[in-house]
Amino acid sequence: MRLFRRKAGWLVGGLCCVALVASLVAVGYFHRALERTESEIATLRSEATRLAQMHAGRSAQDRALLEQVGRELAQSSVEREAATADIEAQAQIVAAQEARIEQLEAERDTAVQYAAEQVRRAVDRRAMLENAVNDRVQAIQERDEATAMRDATLIETRKVLRQLDAETRATIADIEKIIVATGLEPSRVVPEPNRIRRVGARGGPYIPWKAQVALAEHSESSQLQTLTQQLEKLKALRDVMVRLPLVAPVTHAILSDGFGYRRDPVNGGGARHEGLDLRAVRDSAVIAPAAGTVVAAGWDGAFGNLIQIDHGFGVVSRYAHLSRMLVRKGDVVARNEQIGVVGATGRATGVHLHYEIWVDGQPRDPMRFLTAVSRPVVGFVHQ
Ligand SMILES: [Zn+2]
Repeated sequence: MRLFRRKAGWLVGGLCCVALVASLVAVGYFHRALERTESEIATLRSEATRLAQMHAGRSAQDRALLEQVGRELAQSSVEREAATADIEAQAQIVAAQEARIEQLEAERDTAVQYAAEQVRRAVDRRAMLENAVNDRVQAIQERDEATAMRDATLIETRKVLRQLDAETRATIADIEKIIVATGLEPSRVVPEPNRIRRVGARGGPYIPWKAQVALAEHSESSQLQTLTQQLEKLKALRDVMVRLPLVAPVTHAILSDGFGYRRDPVNGGGARHEGLDLRAVRDSAVIAPAAGTVVAAGWDGAFGNLIQIDHGFGVVSRYAHLSRMLVRKGDVVARNEQIGVVGATGRATGVHLHYEIWVDGQPRDPMRFLTAVSRPVVGFVHQ
């Protein structure tokens, strides 16, 4: 500015020198021009001042603006950093939350698996329990069925036992009737089972009385015991039946003379006849009507060839006038076994079998034995 002023001074001095020289020529003319120039200089000066002022003001304004911008920028940077920090903090929180969520999900999955396992086990246990219950129910059903079957079997068994007992008793009664019909005493040929124990020596297993009572409480047991006794008796009676001469010793025979008083066929006098005369065809077979032991087989005067068989129970049968004898004394003969041949040996008027039955040493009517069985005697024709 000073330089400017100095230059302007020089310019003014020069001009003044020029003007002084020129003024010599045209003082008056340049006088106004000088005035204008001064005015212009003033104007320029004020303009320069204004510009300088304006420049100075603008710089200040710019600086202020720049400072403000700088401040704003600084502020903005701080805010941005703060925001960045916030975002980072938020990101960390989010990451932490995500991690927590993952953990929770994992825990949830574990819990779900555990729960599923528990449910599966519960289902298994339930199935097991149901199976156990079903097994139990089936076992109870089977037990009930078995019990019902056992009861039914028991009832049926008792029924059968009763029926068998009744049939056995009926058979025993029938056989006893037959025995009675022969004139024998049934109790004599077949002792009662209870009586056997009391006769003679006594013994046997010790059976406590209480056990007997307990046994009697079981109906079927006592039934069975009774039936066993009855069957033993029946067996004994059957043996007796086999050994009792209940059939004719000859087949196709005709009764020519009965038991008791008769007119003697040889001398015509009254006589006692201790047997039956059975007229048969010559050489007819004589059979043992029952099992027994031959106690005599030989010539016996008026009886000719005579065989005697002991059947037991005091019963003896005799066969006379035989043409031939097929057994010897001491032989054991079976029922229906041939023992001889019909003939007319001894005191006889014709071919016939003289047949006797003795009980306890006394002659009995053989007809009682032959008709003891209710069915008709096969092959025997009454004259
Ligand atoms: Zn005779």
